[in-house]
Amino acid sequence: MARKTTRKGHTHKFHKIQGKVVKAWRCADSECKYILHSGLEELLLGRASICWNCSESFPMDEINLKEDMPVCQNCRIKQEVPELAELEKFLANKGV
Ligand SMILES: [Zn+2]
Ligand SMILES: [Zn+2]
Repeated sequence: MARKTTRKGHTHKFHKIQGKVVKAWRCADSECKYILHSGLEELLLGRASICWNCSESFPMDEINLKEDMPVCQNCRIKQEVPELAELEKFLANKGV
């Protein structure tokens, strides 16, 4: 039996998987058997994950729990810019 060396400092790269019945969180590392069924997401709050955009480690927050492939707070800001522009357009159209 080969002794598995635990890689030091392995940070999970969480992502959401959607089965037919259950949703769950897994780690993208194929060597890693981590699995967390949905409903227990709160356990991920504050835990380090690898960003799907920049591959940096970051602490998971509540918004990350809604994402299928969580990105760090820095990358999220970049992603939100187009949405903000859309919102401004929307408000402009409504004449607010
Ligand atoms: Zn892992
Ligand atoms: Zn990032």
